[in-house]
Amino acid sequence: MARDTGPKCRICRREGMKLFLKGERCLTEKCAIERRSYPPGEHGRGRIKQSEYLLQLREKQKARRYYGLLEKQFRTYYTKAAKGSGVTGEELLRMLETRLDNVVYRLGFAASRAQARQLVRHGHFHVNGRRVNIPSYQVKPDDIVSMSPGSSAEPVIRDATDLTASVAPWLQADHDGLTGKILKLPERAEIDTPVQESLIVELYSK
Ligand code: SF4
Repeated sequence: MARDTGPKCRICRREGMKLFLKGERCLTEKCAIERRSYPPGEHGRGRIKQSEYLLQLREKQKARRYYGLLEKQFRTYYTKAAKGSGVTGEELLRMLETRLDNVVYRLGFAASRAQARQLVRHGHFHVNGRRVNIPSYQVKPDDIVSMSPGSSAEPVIRDATDLTASVAPWLQADHDGLTGKILKLPERAEIDTPVQESLIVELYSK
């Protein structure tokens, strides 16, 4: 599947904040946002004329890149969220949060979402005892996510748990047993994604 393969730190600099796309490096002083917190490119330090559209676009791009999705995939999530009965922006974030790759990352079993996606794609995780290698798989309350028995990625997964300070409140993780449980679907207050989802809804509903 196609994916964004450009420089990750450039994305954070474009959005003006840490999006934690590179795992351990993001926690060190090597982080590009710590060293050059202005947008990349020749005109990075110039004045940018702000507009309503630009604000909405940047917010959408930030969310899309935070979860590592391409435009088409992101819009598909929006379309599904808009068809639901809940608040569209919240529903959008809830669907993004309950992707298996994000859940593996939130449980602390990967140092970044990109690493989580690769681990899932290579079959290193089970859901309810069955191997699932689809990063976009949507987990449900009471699902159990666990490392595949005998996985060769165990050292990498254990290293990632050492970097994890906390686990999202809607999840329960056992870092010794390398298993996790989905306690419930996340409420908006339990999702720490730094975006204003209402701006994304405004952009797409034009
Ligand atoms: Fe973003 Fe991480 Fe690069 Fe810092 S080190 S700019 S948080 S990807």
